[in-house]
Amino acid sequence: MKHKNHRAAYNKILAKQSANSFFDELHRPLNKSTGFKEADQCLYCYDAPCIQACPTSIDIPTFIHQIKTANVMGAAHTILKENIMGGTCARACPTEVLCEQACVLNDDAGKPVKIGLLQRFAVDHLMAKDASHPFKRAAQTGRTIAVIGAGPAGLSFAHRTAVLGHDIHIYESRDKAGGLNEYGLAAYKMVDDFAAKEVEFILDIGGIDIFYGTSLEQDLSLNDLQEKYDAIFIGIGLGGTNDLGLDGEAMSGITDAIDFIEDLRQTDDLSSLELGQNIIVIGGGNTAIDAAVQAKKLGSPNVALVYRRGESQMGATAFEVELARKNGIAVHLWSKPITLHGKNSIAAITFEHTTIKNGKLTGTGEAYILDCDMLLKAIGQKLDGTNLQGLATKDGKLVISENYQTSNKKIFAGGDCVLSGEDLTVQAVEDGKQAAIAMDIWLRDN
Ligand code: SF4
Repeated sequence: MKHKNHRAAYNKILAKQSANSFFDELHRPLNKSTGFKEADQCLYCYDAPCIQACPTSIDIPTFIHQIKTANVMGAAHTILKENIMGGTCARACPTEVLCEQACVLNDDAGKPVKIGLLQRFAVDHLMAKDASHPFKRAAQTGRTIAVIGAGPAGLSFAHRTAVLGHDIHIYESRDKAGGLNEYGLAAYKMVDDFAAKEVEFILDIGGIDIFYGTSLEQDLSLNDLQEKYDAIFIGIGLGGTNDLGLDGEAMSGITDAIDFIEDLRQTDDLSSLELGQNIIVIGGGNTAIDAAVQAKKLGSPNVALVYRRGESQMGATAFEVELARKNGIAVHLWSKPITLHGKNSIAAITFEHTTIKNGKLTGTGEAYILDCDMLLKAIGQKLDGTNLQGLATKDGKLVISENYQTSNKKIFAGGDCVLSGEDLTVQAVEDGKQAAIAMDIWLRDN
């Protein structure tokens, strides 16, 4: 009864609020005074390790120096020419394990330059100005390229190929562009509809048309697209999610964490969302943390995060795990779900402790039960049943060459759907950029 009253009271606060208006931003942006002061910390290192640590190789010391000398528009240009989604990456990148971890000021137990916040300071400054797009298109080549998916990889690819003078048709299955930036990142990282504003900014280059509501799975065929276009880029991300493989997984109250975040990001009325009193999130990546923290902020009294290995093996950074703990989330490590309890709805979960034996993760035989009326699965994603018409895959992802070509030379791919390294927005942006450069070279000979 106590929980019901609490929920009813909280729903009044949530009513008619969207995630855009409800969540406070995780990191407060720098202002003019703090921005210039922070830029002053940078040593402008020769052979700067922060550049090596950035997947998009942004010239970090140069853009910080430009801020320091009050050339903030120039700083934004330096960032965006390497990473057209510099605004999102400044908000959502795990800088604590990328550029800021590499910053030399960490030596001597100091604090790194706040590179992410400075990047945001510069890019937001440019986007707030009612100026023309910062890049110009080369003379039109007469070539038209199809892009499947308007997520970070597809948009980054499209922007770079548009700059190089090609025309782009993007086919997007949903009714908005932005991919995970729009649908899958925690709302407290992407307030004020930033993902949509960034898409608008990217499209401002010209030469890019987006056709919404068309998917490779249902409406398009790669064979038809090959007839119609000079080349194709696939940036479809990972639409499917992994299952636990346990009996009862179809019970109500069990859902994918990524769907929970999507509903939350897209609703205009947070009080309409289903929210459990005992929520368990299974997984150890950033999606698990994003879902758990938002569930707690939305008013669920008990939120637990359960991961099958230890903290150092989690995909989420130490900062993210700490964020979860600070928000009152119980973090259970070395535990795997073995039984889902409930008739029609999930009611509890039995977990077994785990350990590493002979190099393999294995159950110890010790078990414990946690009450649960809502289970959010965040145990990784996979390619969905998309019609890839024979393109080579490995471990459930597309195989590409070092030139981003799939097993069909006319079809390039990048982002989460390909077999490569990190599944980070910044890596998808880099993939899109590099694939565009590689395709441009290939098109000149074909
Ligand atoms: S490593 Fe740190 S101090 Fe050196 S250039 Fe990069 S941000 Fe500046």
